[in-house]
Amino acid sequence: MICKNITIKDNELYFNNFKVTELAKKYGTPLYIMDENRIRENVNAYKSAFKKYFGDSALMLYASKACSFKYIYEIMKDEGVGIDLVSSGELYTAKAAGFDLSKAYFHSNNKTDFDIAYGIENGVGYFVADNIEEVNVIERECEKLGKTQKILLRLTPGIDTHTYEADQTGKIDSKFGTAIETGQALTLVGEVLKLSHVKLMGFHCHVGSQVFEEDVYERTSKIMLKFFADVKEKYNFETLEYDIGGGFGVRYVDSDPILHLDTKLKELSEYINAECGRLNINVPAFRMEPGRSIVADAGMTLYTVGTIKKIPGYKNYVSIDGGMADNPRFALYGANYTCMVANKMNEALDFKADLVGRCCESGDIIQKDIMFPSSVKRYDIVAVATTGAYNYSMASNYNRLPRPAVVMLKDDNDFVVVKAESFDNLIQNDI
Ligand SMILES: *Cc1c(COP(=O)(O)O)cnc(C)c1O
Repeated sequence: MICKNITIKDNELYFNNFKVTELAKKYGTPLYIMDENRIRENVNAYKSAFKKYFGDSALMLYASKACSFKYIYEIMKDEGVGIDLVSSGELYTAKAAGFDLSKAYFHSNNKTDFDIAYGIENGVGYFVADNIEEVNVIERECEKLGKTQKILLRLTPGIDTHTYEADQTGKIDSKFGTAIETGQALTLVGEVLKLSHVKLMGFHCHVGSQVFEEDVYERTSKIMLKFFADVKEKYNFETLEYDIGGGFGVRYVDSDPILHLDTKLKELSEYINAECGRLNINVPAFRMEPGRSIVADAGMTLYTVGTIKKIPGYKNYVSIDGGMADNPRFALYGANYTCMVANKMNEALDFKADLVGRCCESGDIIQKDIMFPSSVKRYDIVAVATTGAYNYSMASNYNRLPRPAVVMLKDDNDFVVVKAESFDNLIQNDI
């Protein structure tokens, strides 16, 4: 099966041992379900590998843009990991969950003055500053408050990850970060080191997402560590933290490769240690910011089938009661998904159709050319696997569709962690 936590019994789909058609009946559809046991297993895979290979100074930061609501931050707090935030709204949510913000790293290529002031006021541990403009605003705000703020600088190492273009963020011409190759990054460090309220701790980069390639993080580290050595030589500054960003891939469809996280991190740590030795720099404390690989396979979306449209000689459509409003990823960048009829798991798959949503948009497609059982019909339950990342967090109210509930599955318990939006919620801000 595409995810470890999916099983089949008597023609029915089970997710973390819950019969999903029963969850659909109990809570209604569309519905996001999430497997808390799986989230924690994913976090612990990172935690234990970090400890083994990078030592006690290493810290995993959950990239919360992948899936952000209070309960997720409570899990991360309980697991003792850090978080990566990209907006004041995420910060507000984490704070409301009681998350210790000294373990939060505030990203974004364009933090507003409000974001910076809000982060400082709330004691955010770090800003990951993109450019000098931001650093200057941080300095100004801290001077006003008589505070010192730790920062990392986001750099673009110029790495091409061969993933989808929107997923590439480490290239020189990216909107993110300051380029190493052009010399701008080295100049930036000099400017930052002159400031008195900003404490430079180290450097960050994020080369992309859905990364499976063998050596991406080694290629990235080669450039980053060489830069740390240059910085040491020029400014006598030892880099204390190296944050390599997120990006490990997950399996959406059977043809996606299997990634051995432990082996990958072992190899990376060996590479970093050897390179630091060769360059004669201290090994910095290691940070990584996985998002997708923490929550993606812990999520699934359930829908009820509505209209089946057959156009003989052309194509077929299976329509569901959700769509691009709760999962815009196919519409945005052609994302792959494994889709199943949860109550017909043992039937032959002999009917090809596009799985489409209910929105008024031809691009409202969850997946093209899915093989369904030919008996697929109204009231069947469709399960789309691996929707834990970038689904709920990217959901909209397009067509005034209320966002579905998020139900957490933990051991033998199922409980709502985000309520379904009501029609009243839809108009609550309308004057
Ligand atoms: C999106 C993002 C991540 C998380 O990436 P995943 O592919 O979900 O692991 C981490 N760090 C930064 C800066 C990001 O923009």
